[in-house]
Amino acid sequence: MLLSSKLPGVGTSIFTVMSAMAAEHGAINLAQGFPDFDCSDRLKGLVDKYIRQGHNQYAPMPGLPALRKVMAEKIKSLYGLDVNPDTEITITSGATQALYTAISALIRPDDEVILIEPAYDSYRPSVEVNGGRAITYEMSAPDYAIDWRMLERLISWKTRMIIVNTPHNPTGKILKEADWKELQHIAVNRDIIVLCDEAYEHLVFDGERHESLLRYPQIFERGMSVFSFGKTLHTTGWKLGCIVAPPDLTREFRKVHQFTVFAVNTPMQHAVAEYFETPSDYLELNGFFEKKRNFLLQAMSGSRFKPLHSEGSYFQLYDYSAISDEPDTEFAKQLILEHGVAAIPVSVFYSSHKQERVIRLCFAKKEETLERAAAILCKI
Ligand code: PMP
Ligand code: GLN
Repeated sequence: MLLSSKLPGVGTSIFTVMSAMAAEHGAINLAQGFPDFDCSDRLKGLVDKYIRQGHNQYAPMPGLPALRKVMAEKIKSLYGLDVNPDTEITITSGATQALYTAISALIRPDDEVILIEPAYDSYRPSVEVNGGRAITYEMSAPDYAIDWRMLERLISWKTRMIIVNTPHNPTGKILKEADWKELQHIAVNRDIIVLCDEAYEHLVFDGERHESLLRYPQIFERGMSVFSFGKTLHTTGWKLGCIVAPPDLTREFRKVHQFTVFAVNTPMQHAVAEYFETPSDYLELNGFFEKKRNFLLQAMSGSRFKPLHSEGSYFQLYDYSAISDEPDTEFAKQLILEHGVAAIPVSVFYSSHKQERVIRLCFAKKEETLERAAAILCKI
């Protein structure tokens, strides 16, 4: 059959490629972002309880009321915003589905969407498969600062959406209040939707606070915040999350959600709803992951890899220009084949494949895993 691909440039994701290579060659996997430790026994017990109680049929389409209610309380206490769980919160099958569904519900052919690169890999294909055009603003190492005046120049009458991500994958940058003020200035007087990927909302370090879009009511009028419970609960394999948006945007979101996913895993929604009633579990995550970041930095301190500053997320970037001139994809392959450590080359997060000799390491790992990997990397 003569098939013309809607996404001719898309291959297998770098995360899949690197995890497969790491498994094949027995390498320590600091590439794909997932914990190598388990979620809590209490959470597992709750899933078991709700399965045994017979909560095994379809959940309501927008998500279990108890889970939406606890999310509304969590949002109020963390970000000070009153959101209506019936009309403004939808439970999704992870952040990826929330992002995709938001984009497909709102982006029409030829609409322009501003992406800030390096960018998480799902944004661009989600825009393009729906006929939209991704317009790129590039951040650069070592500080990955955003010059909002330059970004504003990319806006045209076709701009429909800006996608931001804080804490940021892969750089670990966080948006600050000053960034949101700039973004507010850009978006509020135009008909532009702000879609904010907050998958790592609970992984912010050094006493900084997470600047959720939900702290900015004027942006929230045209804003959508996406969360990933996989990151909050150490359960990336469960693929649960949610999207928070005002009623008009939520209505459009649910029109597509209803016919793609319809409803999300019922017993797990019950379990997460009960688990989130104890805020201390998620409030401890900032400190928990900051310790892991610091452990990796310390273990790598004798190496020729130069750390860039990670303010949040699962990730620490390292500049390897003192070691090699090879492009980062080549360097990452050699790291696996010759040294047995898997990392992610940062150029894959740029549509231009910008080369800056930087790799990403995931520190959501046991200390012994980080220690073993760092001992190898220190000898290179
Ligand atoms: N956004 C970012 C920035 C991510 O790093 C990830 C994956 N870790 C996702 C979205 C996807 O999250 P989920 O697994 O909940 O779909
Ligand atoms: N978000 C994870 C990462 O950045 C990977 C998720 C995936 O494999 N799609 O490593």
